[in-house]
Amino acid sequence: MILDGKVPFGPLAEKWDIHCHEMRLVSPANKRKFTVIVVGTGLAGASAAATLAELGYNVEAFCYQDSARRAHSISAQGGINAAKNYPSDGDSVYRLFHDTIKGGDFRAREANVYRLSQISNLIIDQCVAQGVPFAREYSGYLANRSFGGAQVSRTFYARGQTGQQLLLGAYQALSRQVHLGNVKLYPRTEMLDLVLVDGEAKGILVRDLVTGETRAHAADAVILATGGYSNVFYLSTNAMGCNVNAN
Ligand SMILES: Cc1cc2nc3c(=O)[nH]c(=O)nc-3n(C[C@H](O)[C@H](O)[C@H](O)COP(=O)(O)OP(=O)(O)OC[C@H]3O[C@@H](n4cnc5c(N)ncnc54)[C@H](O)[C@@H]3O)c2cc1C
Repeated sequence: MILDGKVPFGPLAEKWDIHCHEMRLVSPANKRKFTVIVVGTGLAGASAAATLAELGYNVEAFCYQDSARRAHSISAQGGINAAKNYPSDGDSVYRLFHDTIKGGDFRAREANVYRLSQISNLIIDQCVAQGVPFAREYSGYLANRSFGGAQVSRTFYARGQTGQQLLLGAYQALSRQVHLGNVKLYPRTEMLDLVLVDGEAKGILVRDLVTGETRAHAADAVILATGGYSNVFYLSTNAMGCNVNAN
């Protein structure tokens, strides 16, 4: 079995930038013609489903809990890292990348960790826009703390319940798209298998956990955001919700 991470070519810091620039765009008029299945409604899945729906795709989202709000992301406590360098203590995208690679015992895919570090600042902006109540200084600026042995303060947090607050933000964005009819949500539904057509993921087999019924769902693409309490990112960077990219 060949484990192919499909990491793009190019210099480490530019691999994903080059890939994004070279990808073909889908015309806004054509997006409605495509259906994307997202398995998982934690921070990764809920964010991906809400964003794809906002872009105009038809989305079907699955989780085995009774509500998307029950995903394990809710338990994350300490905070989410970003290289904003608000305290001016020398942080940078490269330092966040370096700490994360070390924190992951050098086992993570370097290009993906670099990408994670690169977009970390945007993730904080997105969360704030979604209404996540991060801790703030008395002056109103977002507060940072040092976390997980880092020598800089780059962790954004909401008391000891950062994951719950982040999930509330992602869930609200998801609920808005459900309300607009762009996302069809399937709670209490367990994915059993992936449907491959010519090597491409084109659907999933699921079991309804209430009735026991099994059925198939077809799509143009499938995103597996089924969880990753990954020691690669835990404590050292912003694991939360990014696993869909980084794993
Ligand atoms: C106690 C605790 C503290 C943590 N603290 C931090 C922290 O301070 N900072 C940090 O960065 N990270 C922290 N983490 C890690 C972080 O919370 C997780 O890595 C992240 O939330 C995972 O998000 P996710 O969306 O990938 O997965 P999850 O939130 O686990 O969601 C997985 C989803 O996949 C669905 N699913 C799985 N299998 C199937 C299937 N077969 N069929 C259908 N649906 C399926 C589930 O129903 C669920 O909706 C912590 C984790 C824990 C447990």
